[in-house]
Amino acid sequence: MSAAGARSPERDVVIVGAGVVGAAIARELSRFDLRCTLLEAGPDVGAGTSKANTALLHTGFDAKPGTLEARLVRRGHELLSSYAARVGIPVARIGAVLVAWDDEQLAAFPGIVERARANGYEAIREMGLDELRQREPHLGPGARGALVVPDEGIVCPFTTPLAYATEAVLAGCELRLRTPVPILVVSARHSEQEKVRLLDAGADDFLTKPFGPAELAARVRAPRPAARRRAVS
Ligand SMILES: Cc1cc2nc3c(=O)[nH]c(=O)nc-3n(C[C@H](O)[C@H](O)[C@H](O)COP(=O)(O)OP(=O)(O)OC[C@H]3O[C@@H](n4cnc5c(N)ncnc54)[C@H](O)[C@@H]3O)c2cc1C
Repeated sequence: MSAAGARSPERDVVIVGAGVVGAAIARELSRFDLRCTLLEAGPDVGAGTSKANTALLHTGFDAKPGTLEARLVRRGHELLSSYAARVGIPVARIGAVLVAWDDEQLAAFPGIVERARANGYEAIREMGLDELRQREPHLGPGARGALVVPDEGIVCPFTTPLAYATEAVLAGCELRLRTPVPILVVSARHSEQEKVRLLDAGADDFLTKPFGPAELAARVRAPRPAARRRAVS
């Protein structure tokens, strides 16, 4: 994808990172009357973790009931399923099969089914060994039982962030690629160990409280070594 959009120093929102999350935020915000910029350190949208995941479109059947994760994964499954069908993101509803290979795994099945139902997911069911062998003829010997989750699927991890970013750019969001944003940590923690940990994790600078606005502005203006900027991408 190439960088596009109206270039202007005046921005209402700047989103750092054009992975699936940043691109989705950019798409959502571009529906409003906002001057929006999406910045990405890498050479393209979705070039980080988003392009290299397992591609599972989860139902959230096994999330801990009542948690934010359970609610969001379920809602995400609904939203992404309908969005993918609308814009042509490849999805394959292949289902998931959980195989028990010993007594302990078999004994866990009722709890997994109960958890799925508590999450509002009713389609999970036990699969007999004959059906399992028919469905998965290349499975090794020794399976003790299986559960099937028909609505789990795979979704193209490349197309998803690209679709979000394309819609955002078409709606006027500016996209800047190869634009690493320096990471300045502002913290009340001041131990050497903490500073070293964060600098080693990729921070460009570390500022401890108390500090004045002039120092903060000077740190933001300070030039960054190119090697560290490249490391971010
Ligand atoms: C091995 C693995 C398997 C997974 N499998 C699945 C799965 O099957 N299903 C599923 O739903 N989820 C899965 N996930 C999780 C999923 O991939 C992540 O939750 C998702 O990709 C996170 O998206 P993101 O946009 O937050 O991060 P990223 O895709 O990492 O995007 C962040 C972007 O920010 C950019 N960036 C970082 N720092 C800066 C900076 N300073 N300036 C400018 N840009 C910057 C990076 O270059 C990157 O492109 C998996 C994760 C892993 C690691």
